[in-house]
Amino acid sequence: MTERLLDLQTIDTTTDQLRYRRAHLPEADAAASARAELATWERAVADLRARIDALEAEVEREEHAAKEIDTKRARLQQQLRTVIAPREAEALQHEIATLTAQRGELDDRELEALEAQTGADDELQALLADEPRLRAALATAAEQLAAAQALVDDELAALDASRTSLRAELDAAVLDRYDRLRTHLGGIAVAKLVGSRCDGCHLDMSAAELDTVRHAPPDELPECPNCSRLLVR
Ligand SMILES: [Zn+2]
Repeated sequence: MTERLLDLQTIDTTTDQLRYRRAHLPEADAAASARAELATWERAVADLRARIDALEAEVEREEHAAKEIDTKRARLQQQLRTVIAPREAEALQHEIATLTAQRGELDDRELEALEAQTGADDELQALLADEPRLRAALATAAEQLAAAQALVDDELAALDASRTSLRAELDAAVLDRYDRLRTHLGGIAVAKLVGSRCDGCHLDMSAAELDTVRHAPPDELPECPNCSRLLVR
């Protein structure tokens, strides 16, 4: 019975280790980085698209303003042809010159916006060209993670089957003790007695303690006086 309990402990410890491994698979890190890289890419694409939209809107505004200036200037030039008073003509000419200067500034700004738009478009095209690579990398990483998880899951399922049949052989009171100790002692409830030392806490027992442990009835599970784990002699 005590040997079977040690087997149970081995199964449970291996299960704990496998669960830890499943939660810390290197493939999970790779999949997370691939996902993060794609998310960064998606943000960059969204930012660029927003910038291109803003530049487009700016160009439209400037074109609209340019048309208004042109209309106003044409009207003033028309007026200038019919004006006779020199002071009035001078005032009109001044106004026309101001509008021409404004139109020039607008053209410059529009040209700048168009250039910026071209640059952003090129950047966007370069980014979009990278999309298949990023998506393929994520798909591969996800596949590799799933495969690694499936391998561990197979091992876990096999252990689970062994555990179930093993527990069926063991006494309910012993299992209860074992389960409670496992909860309180970081997963290890059963330890081997190696010489005068408990393999669970690695502490030596006194001669008297060792004597008690050694002379316990064979079907009984003595406890380590230091860590209270069940000792297998
Ligand atoms: Zn101990």
